[in-house]
Amino acid sequence: MSSAGPVESAVPPSDAAPARQDFIRQIVREDLASGKHAAVRTRFPPEPNGYLHIGHAKAICLDFGIAAEFGGRCNLRFDDTNPEKEDLAFVRAIEDDVRWLGFEWAELRHASDYFDVYYRAATKLIEQGDAFVCDLTAEQVREYRGTLTEPGRNSPFRDRSVEENLDLFARMRAGEFADGTRTLRAKIDMASGNINLRDPALYRIKQVAHQNTGDAWPIYPMYDFAHALGDAVEGITHSLCTLEFEDHRPLYDWVVDRVDLAGNPELLASLSARGLPVVAAKPRQIEFSRLNINYTVMSKRKLTQLVAEGLVDGWDDPRMYTLQGLRRRGYTPASLRLLVDRVGISKQNSVIDFSVLEGALRDDLDARAPRRMAVIDPLKLVLTNLPDGHAETLTFPNHPKDETQGTREVPFSRQLWIERDDFAEVPPKGWKRLVPGGEVRLRGAGIVRVDEVVKDADGHIVELQGTLDPESRPGMEGANRKVKGTIHWVSAAHAVEAEVRLFDRLFVVEKPDDESTGQTYRDHLNPDSRRSVTGYIEPAAAEAAPEQSFQFERTGYFVADRVDHTPARPVFNRSVTLRDTWAAGHAAG
Ligand code: ATP
Ligand code: MG
Repeated sequence: MSSAGPVESAVPPSDAAPARQDFIRQIVREDLASGKHAAVRTRFPPEPNGYLHIGHAKAICLDFGIAAEFGGRCNLRFDDTNPEKEDLAFVRAIEDDVRWLGFEWAELRHASDYFDVYYRAATKLIEQGDAFVCDLTAEQVREYRGTLTEPGRNSPFRDRSVEENLDLFARMRAGEFADGTRTLRAKIDMASGNINLRDPALYRIKQVAHQNTGDAWPIYPMYDFAHALGDAVEGITHSLCTLEFEDHRPLYDWVVDRVDLAGNPELLASLSARGLPVVAAKPRQIEFSRLNINYTVMSKRKLTQLVAEGLVDGWDDPRMYTLQGLRRRGYTPASLRLLVDRVGISKQNSVIDFSVLEGALRDDLDARAPRRMAVIDPLKLVLTNLPDGHAETLTFPNHPKDETQGTREVPFSRQLWIERDDFAEVPPKGWKRLVPGGEVRLRGAGIVRVDEVVKDADGHIVELQGTLDPESRPGMEGANRKVKGTIHWVSAAHAVEAEVRLFDRLFVVEKPDDESTGQTYRDHLNPDSRRSVTGYIEPAAAEAAPEQSFQFERTGYFVADRVDHTPARPVFNRSVTLRDTWAAGHAAG
């Protein structure tokens, strides 16, 4: 499948991209130019009921990015209106993720900061005749709601008097009623073609403690009510969200208009008194398409299940599509910002090919990651014409295209480790690496010829013996003599043993969560998504700090594991291979 992403090529791998031109930025530009808004205010509004995934990176880059580009402000607001599913651990992780992606919020807010305002706003709606307390059970509410083709029916409680409604709502708030026995509902239109407008619930009873407000509230506002008012409280000018909220926009506007916070500053007095500056305004909701990437699942619920069922090793398993997982895998913030730029912002739903994600990481790391040598599947090569104990250091550039990265010393000696698959006794056609009697360049060290292949009793190759051409050494006249191949190596006496974790995609099919076949994503897990091997790395790689990324030459991009790596016991994760190995039909196998 080819990518449906609108922009896939020719984007420079840097943040200095040309001014972004998507339809939302166009609206913002016009609103600023016309004077509709003096400044732009946005917010990123996660529900703290799980870890953020790569889809959220798109929303974060858009919300914070627009504020930054237009000199505005972006709040981080936790839409914490579902206490059973929420947790302070998620709140902390989300804060961490947003900062890691490179953004800082103007203010940190919670929907729960505004519970008091929401309550007063609901009371105002009752007084206006715009809301009523309903005693129907959840099941009855469903029956009365109607369907896409049939109108709903009015609740028998719809015509309660304002006094009775005020009394019942106050008693709901006082905790007099059991969960689920009553709701506060908006009085809109049970015949509306938009089901969201058929007297939607605004408040429900839940005698549940909240991670932020403790036992203070036995009732909680519904998302649509809280979200719209949260935006209004914070003076959000452009409330950006994904397309599934398009049908909710009429309700969003209804809430904002009927409550009219901007016209009722007394409603907000409690917030100013608590030191929460408010700029009540009428926000505009604008929807954009979600980020979807094939070979992934991208919903908090499914990611939660993967962890709960032990199918991965926790939230930050490097195969997970959480930001925590991608970070541990070695994805850089710049690579994710680059991905979001390449995908672009539109209203078109599309599925981005996984290679676009990997391509963004390769491009970022190709430009910035220092090079090192590491041997993943080692085979001993002895240079028999060097004396026992021979040792020297060679100077290597850290980056072939970036001199500012300087150089490093690489030890070289008589016994080396090379990759087992850089030698073939019977070479396939077009082979450019080592063969018996053949020559190859040892990266930066000279040209070697294999003289002897040493095998054990079972016929397995245990060692190669070869001769290093003294005329081909660095600085010698024959240093530039042409040979077909160049291979990497490490000095056996100096290399550091390392655990190398070779990760691959978690799923083997493009749509792992397509359940139309009766299967679930559990049936499509890639059995080879993680392999751990022992390799040898040059000393300058072992010294890395956790989260340092390298290109291991000819092998791929790797990162020092942020949890397990120490210089004494190095652990590297493969972030991405050098080339796309899936394009050639790996997925079909
Ligand atoms: P999920 O559906 O995966 O559980 P969510 O939409 O419930 O995620 P929220 O915490 O409500 O998660 O999302 C916070 C913001 O991130 C919302 O504005 C939402 O529209 C946006 N968002 C969520 N998923 C994506 C995605 N795949 N692409 C772009 N934006 C997203
Ligand atoms: Mg949601």
